Order: sequence, then C-alpha cells, then structure tokens
Amino acid sequence: MNTAPSTAASPALVSFDRVTKRYDSGRVALAEATFTLDRSEFVLLTGPSGAGKSTILRLICGLETPSGGRLTVAGEDLARMRRKALPFLRRSLGVVLQNPLLLNDRPVLDNVALPALAAGLSRTAALERARAAMSRVGLDPAAAGVPPNALSGGEQQRVALARAIVNRPALILADEPTAHVDHQGASQLLQLLEQFAIAGVTVLMATHGEAVPLPARARVMLIDAGRVTT
Ligand code: ADP
Repeated sequence: MNTAPSTAASPALVSFDRVTKRYDSGRVALAEATFTLDRSEFVLLTGPSGAGKSTILRLICGLETPSGGRLTVAGEDLARMRRKALPFLRRSLGVVLQNPLLLNDRPVLDNVALPALAAGLSRTAALERARAAMSRVGLDPAAAGVPPNALSGGEQQRVALARAIVNRPALILADEPTAHVDHQGASQLLQLLEQFAIAGVTVLMATHGEAVPLPARARVMLIDAGRVTT
C-alpha cells in the first residue's frame, strides 16, 4: 500500500461504492454502502450489535469479498486484487480487536515484534521497531519483558495497538477495542488513536454505542441493519 502523504489529487484511502455483502446464509449484512475514508481521518463507525460493522472491517481486510458494488483501498480494486497480494494488503493494515489475542507464553516485546518479523525484518530490526512502537503508545519500557497477562486490560490493548502499528500502516482498523477496558483505559486508547490520525494515519473504529469519550477529531458514521449513513 502506498503510504505516501496525501496530496490534493490522491484518491480516498478507502472507497465503498454501493457495496453490498450477502452471506451464504442469504443474510444481507451490508446494503449498497457508499462512503470514503480519507487519509488522516478518524472515523467512528457506530451502530448496534449485528448492524454490519465487523463486515465492513472484514471487507477492507480482504477477509470477505463484496457481493456487489466496488471497494477500493489505496486505489486498488479489492475484487481485482490477486490472491497473492492479499497478505501484503493485510500487513499494510493495523488491526485491533475487542480481545487483544496476545500470546502469554512470550514477552510483550516479542508480541509487538511479530508482524515485523512476518514482514521479513531481521530479529534485531523487528525488536527495535517494537520498542519504538511501545514508546509511541506510551508503554513503560519495563513492560517489554513481562508476559501480556501481567498487564491491565487497558495496557494489553495498548500492546495490541503497538503490534498493529509496528509495520507503520496507513490504516488502523479497530473493532470495539474499548469493550473490555475501563473508562480511563478507553479514553487513553482513543487519545492514542486520535494522535495516529493527526500524524497521517487513517483510523476506522467500530463501536456499538458504548459511552466512549468522543475524540474532537472524530467523524461519526452510523450504521443500522446494514445501512450506512455518513
Ligand atoms: P456487527 O459487527 O455490527 O455486530 P456483523 O457485521 O458482525 O455486525 O454482522 C452483520 C450481520 O451479518 C448480522 O446479522 C450477522 O448475524 C450476519 N453475519 C456476520 N457474519 C456472518 C457470516 N459469516 N455468515 C452469515 N451471517 C453473518
């Protein structure tokens, strides 16, 4: 993915043009959704459980394919993207989930370094990047050597965020990352996501309307029963 800074002529980073997703069960999870995510935008995708939020995130990752319409990421039509390019696309995205899915049999630093190793960096370079990522999300360097489950829920989500940004993505997708985090942890996480957006990263965060402190920069996009209103 092209992570060059935005210019006036550059297209939206993500563009949904009448995208529909119908699962094999026949369920229409997304109905003709049309919206764009620009570079450096922070968008909160808000709607009740079952509205279609995760479907949107999975479509952007290439984990699901649209049943209709056109979806482009960094100008690339995902339907035409060759299967071989999908792992590359996924490595260019940072993903943070409700459950951070960290490996407790290895230290925090190794967890954060994993995507950098998967992208082909040497162990030394990957660990260096991981330390820088930990610092960017405000984690104490002393946390590097402990297993993730020795940290609080909010800290574990910051580890997940450090892991998500270790490959310096142009886009962060966050699926209800504050669902199991206390209020203070949630507000720290939102501030961090906002800082990444200010620094030029596009952030799309799904929430089901829990009381998240609304960041000043955020644009709210509502979804209900598969219909997006921008
Ligand atoms: P949200 O993230 O807003 O809770 P989802 O995108 O997970 O919503 O789901 C939207 C709708 O699609 C729901 O009705 C859900 O049951 C259905 N759905 C999600 N994933 C699948 C799937 N793999 N197969 C069939 N139906 C699905």
